[in-house]
Amino acid sequence: MIAATSLPNQPQDPPRWQQALADAITDPAELLSELALDASALPAMKAAARDFPMLVPRGFVARMRRGDPSDPLLLQVLPTAAELLLQAGFVTDPVGDLDSRRGDGLLQKYAGRSLLIATGACAVHCRYCFRRHFPYDEETASIGSWQGALEQLAADPSVQEVILSGGDPLSLSDRRLSQLTTALQAIPHIKRLRIHTRQPIVLPERVDAGLLDWLAGVPLQKVVVLHANHAREIDGTVVKACRDLAASGATLLNQSVLLAGINDTAEALGDLSEALIAAGVLPYYLHVLDRVSGASHFDVQESVACDLIDQLAARLPGYLVPKLVREVPGMPSKTPVTKSP
Ligand SMILES: *Cc1c(COP(=O)(O)O)cnc(C)c1O
Ligand code: SF4
Repeated sequence: MIAATSLPNQPQDPPRWQQALADAITDPAELLSELALDASALPAMKAAARDFPMLVPRGFVARMRRGDPSDPLLLQVLPTAAELLLQAGFVTDPVGDLDSRRGDGLLQKYAGRSLLIATGACAVHCRYCFRRHFPYDEETASIGSWQGALEQLAADPSVQEVILSGGDPLSLSDRRLSQLTTALQAIPHIKRLRIHTRQPIVLPERVDAGLLDWLAGVPLQKVVVLHANHAREIDGTVVKACRDLAASGATLLNQSVLLAGINDTAEALGDLSEALIAAGVLPYYLHVLDRVSGASHFDVQESVACDLIDQLAARLPGYLVPKLVREVPGMPSKTPVTKSP
């Protein structure tokens, strides 16, 4: 028998990244067994996964340490009993997205830039995600309803930048991305395309020749905002994906979420900034956790967060210190988190 992997990729085959995504681990039992971890908490994990299913690509699992239940990559994706606790102050729509909807998948909160929920799909399910309860089915700009979003963008000359978000916009096929950007390019006041994506980190296979051809061909100015939270997420495959994206003309930034037990030390944050710049990526935002229900166990107090930023500033060049921000519903921008006087 010939192993499937030894055959060349046939033109009619789905791209390798789609195969890798289809092959992602969705069963907590399988993840625990891959990592040689104790399975006694499995019933609670399965209960937590019922609300928001587990999803983690195998290449990301390969960067986890076997036998370490506190691995910082594992903790981002493994459903746990803590998610089932209801905590006062942790709600289903912490950032007011439902109030900012303009319909057709457009969110308009800030001047000059509009965010398009291009798809609800992600390549990984992050347990702390603030959109874990977002009604994507109602609000996603699917191929059928892009028209409405495009019409709104065309009618508003104040919009200079369109942010593709989600979900993860790179879940869309190259063909659909290209349909979308062709339409955006035709709107004269749109100058910049921003893509918020975690896929080059969790599924670097996504950054393939087809995607790079598409990106290189988009005549708008391009900014790609990645999402990595820990230095160990950035291995050689991710560095290559970042280099390729930069070579296609994109400016690369990163946003992280400050997560208890994962990256809430000056050392972890410092290592992350160093790993990012080594891959050609500048740290942009460090978000304090949005208070979404099911994620209270990841929360870090603001005073602790401010101390961490001070410690970072004392050891790194200024351009490697991310801006510490919170998203406050109704504010005209992300809100800087500072020490209360
Ligand atoms: C976070 C966000 C943006 C981007 O904000 P920047 O400060 O420009 O990075 C834009 N629109 C919406 C709706 C957002 O939530
Ligand atoms: S990739 Fe982003 S949108 Fe998707 S689950 Fe993770 S944090 Fe949420």
